[in-house]
Amino acid sequence: MTWATLVLIIFFALSSTLWGVPAAGGLDIFWCDVEGGAATLIVTPAREALLVDSGWPGERDPERIAKLAREVAGIQQIDHYITSHWHTDHFGGIQRLAELIPIKNFYDHGFPQLPQSDITPQLVDNYKRASKGKTTLLKPGDQIRLKQLQGTPNVTLRVYAAHGVVSGEKSDAGQIRECSANPKHEAKALDNSDNARSLAFVLAFGDWEFFDAGDLTWNVEHKLVCPKNLVGPVDVYQVTHHGLDASNHPALIQALQPRVAVMNNGAKKGGTEAVVRLLKSTPSIEALFAVHRNVQTKPEDNADPALTANDVEQCSGEYIRLTVAPDGKSYMVAVPSKKTTRTFSTK
Ligand SMILES: [Zn+2]
Repeated sequence: MTWATLVLIIFFALSSTLWGVPAAGGLDIFWCDVEGGAATLIVTPAREALLVDSGWPGERDPERIAKLAREVAGIQQIDHYITSHWHTDHFGGIQRLAELIPIKNFYDHGFPQLPQSDITPQLVDNYKRASKGKTTLLKPGDQIRLKQLQGTPNVTLRVYAAHGVVSGEKSDAGQIRECSANPKHEAKALDNSDNARSLAFVLAFGDWEFFDAGDLTWNVEHKLVCPKNLVGPVDVYQVTHHGLDASNHPALIQALQPRVAVMNNGAKKGGTEAVVRLLKSTPSIEALFAVHRNVQTKPEDNADPALTANDVEQCSGEYIRLTVAPDGKSYMVAVPSKKTTRTFSTK
């Protein structure tokens, strides 16, 4: 056993046995169970907290997020809050969450032109109130300025898609770009919902990279990799749109070449047969983790039960945790409710 391997084993042993203790010098991601919504909490080596989306309106999701943040991640405020897009399952919890934990900076793809049938104006008002009218609009190519911890690799967050356009495109570019002869890659009908305007970003920690695209749909996903792969390979893929097949374009997944996929589905939302089959048959993917078992599909069309945080619909809201080692060279994904941990080396 080499010295480096020994250090790594000790590091992960510490972070996996002491669940409440944050990993010193490493980077953590927590997928909070918000029942088919989204709430991805990132804690950087400098202990800055980024939250991407805040689940559904009501008490349940904000309370789960705040509890996870304070009691498991060990942070006392959200430094950067990102709204991937204006759908209820992604930013509905923001007003209540802001009452439970301080939130410093807000980012989004720009306020929607209302009325819009898929956006609830009251929730947009709540967001404006929670952010005190101070938000930062993100465009492709933008980065969020993050604190760095001396002695560890740089942490960066770069946007690749926002408001329906991808890096290098003009702000009025069309949603559909025919660029592949593959009949399986054919464009779908124009998506006028806010899903198509989701933010997509890559969070990097040294060589290690994580891709999160909210609920970005098929046509815009395709523009990210056709005719040119703008994103490059990544390590970890947050399965887009809870694993619905309106998203998860096979050309994108193939181009990203993730080793690990994490799906934030609900018991009866997302985690579709088609997407689970696609992920399981993608050669680069070594493990598919799921926040929920899809109770409507067969066991073989679900993630491995050991890698699934919640088995039943009336669940206790169990989370998935990913910890990157302080050198960015390896990472561990844990499902605490199943006492499962898997380690992976960075690409
Ligand atoms: Zn959604």
